Amino acid sequence: MQVLQGLGVSDGVAIGRAVCLETRHDEVYRFPLPEDQVPAEIERFRRATEEALEEVQRLGRRVGLELGEDLGGIFEVHSLLLQDAAFLNAIEYRIVEEKINAEWAVLETTADLRSKFASLGEDHFRERGEDLQDVGRHLLRSLQGISHHDLSEIEGDVIVIADDLTPSDAVRLGRQGVVGFAIEVGGQTSHTAIIAHSLAIPLVSGLPGITRLAAQDDPVIVDGAAGSVILHPTAAILERERGRQVQLRREQSELVKTRELEAVTLDGVSIDLLANIDLSEELDDALRFGAQGIGLYRSEFLYIERSPEIPTEDDHYNVYRRLLEKMAPSPVVIRTYDLGGRKLAREVMETHEENPVLGLRGIRLTLARPRIFRTQLRGILRAGRHGELWVMLPLVSTIDEVRRFRAFAAATMEELRNEGTPCSPNFKLGVMIEVPSAVMIADHLAREVDFFAIGTNDLIQYSLAVDRNNEHVADLYQPLHPGLLRMIVMVIKAAAGADIPVSVCGEMAANPLLASVLVGLGIRRLSLSPRRLPTVKGAIRSLDCAAMTRHLEHCCELPSAADVRRYLQGLDLRI
Ligand code: PEP
Ligand code: MG
Repeated sequence: MQVLQGLGVSDGVAIGRAVCLETRHDEVYRFPLPEDQVPAEIERFRRATEEALEEVQRLGRRVGLELGEDLGGIFEVHSLLLQDAAFLNAIEYRIVEEKINAEWAVLETTADLRSKFASLGEDHFRERGEDLQDVGRHLLRSLQGISHHDLSEIEGDVIVIADDLTPSDAVRLGRQGVVGFAIEVGGQTSHTAIIAHSLAIPLVSGLPGITRLAAQDDPVIVDGAAGSVILHPTAAILERERGRQVQLRREQSELVKTRELEAVTLDGVSIDLLANIDLSEELDDALRFGAQGIGLYRSEFLYIERSPEIPTEDDHYNVYRRLLEKMAPSPVVIRTYDLGGRKLAREVMETHEENPVLGLRGIRLTLARPRIFRTQLRGILRAGRHGELWVMLPLVSTIDEVRRFRAFAAATMEELRNEGTPCSPNFKLGVMIEVPSAVMIADHLAREVDFFAIGTNDLIQYSLAVDRNNEHVADLYQPLHPGLLRMIVMVIKAAAGADIPVSVCGEMAANPLLASVLVGLGIRRLSLSPRRLPTVKGAIRSLDCAAMTRHLEHCCELPSAADVRRYLQGLDLRI
């Protein structure tokens, strides 16, 4: 038996057999081949080339349609290269001559050709070199079988053990019946973690080397709350954990009873509890646990779920209409696409960014790609007739973005009206406050919008300069940092000054202690994963809000997160 300790990011206990996946494309190894395997390797390479060609042509059509012919044209160059005999022969030659695996031959050949082009010193040649590198990536991807993991046929409970997992892989694998995830990398609020939580699948990340330690079919236990993974558990441990699973399920079903209780503190402060929805599966839980609306619908997951197809206007309309009708008359906050960063469906934007988290993400990408956005916006405005629609913009960092959006929305509305398509002119417009510059201009922003939602996941990432996906800096990802607490107070004051509501919809709101801190700071509206609603409600019901506010005034003056934590631990909070 071997126990590995990582970061528990989605709770619950999962017991099953390991399926090990290699998902990272950039790690390519050199394998020498025995002479007699060379012809089969050439065959494998040719099959991969055909697949890559199909993929590139499909992408070209898709991008052409959505982003315009110019961008679609990029793929034409790629598709010509994938049919270029000189290029392909150079790779095959290397496989035969050096007796090496196709991946290595692709990597070496493209690197070689790139440096030859670069040595010619003109922009035109450098661009061709970049095309070669992109094509090399497509080839590697199809050689390594990326996105071909289909586990639905495997019998029994499967625990996926992987080096890395994108949010879209997590959605796909979760829906194929995977019961647990154990991943080498990833932080506490990564989107993969959020997805695992949405699907109620235990996930432990930050387990370096687990893909080498575990073998296919090994018995595994994933304990998401403790952040541990047990390989080859003994019979006694297995029995104990099965017992815990049963107990946890019983407790879960008991939680429904909390639905009737009010979310009100001991001293009578009433808190609105709303649901964050990533996947359609969660709507039932939101209703079951009595959510007072949807405080965040992460619409980009609709996009990621439909990939490689792009959601049509009717797809948008139908999903939003269902949410609005089911929740009416409570509000439903539809956040426009927050694509980009790690949430980007890989195949959509082939633009390479050195630092995508600071790149074309959220509202920036949306405004830069009006065609995709227009489809979504039309769907939103049409659905608005069916309930209380609030629209929210992600990653706003300048006031200009809000103004540009308003103009865009007005033009789209006009277009719908001229066509005679029924739509709703009345919706509330809000912004996520998740970038420090938005905090600093919150007073100005508050005069331009109808509501704020603080996205602490990103606000922590951007203000503390800590990648939310990076387990190596997980200890610096500090929700109790006094700098962050002060920012939240600033935003609350700005919202109060303009008399607009402010909520928190980051993962802080889903943690009983941190939710109590938020309430103490002055937040009266929390939005969180529906499964966490009962626990957070319980914490609120045992909170003395006025006392907490006094404690937090003190905490905001402390120098570090550790000091704040120590101070709070010294109180008798009963959370
Ligand atoms: C956040 O940043 O806190 C947030 C709610 O948005 P997301 O997690 O989708 O980035
Ligand atoms: Mg965010």
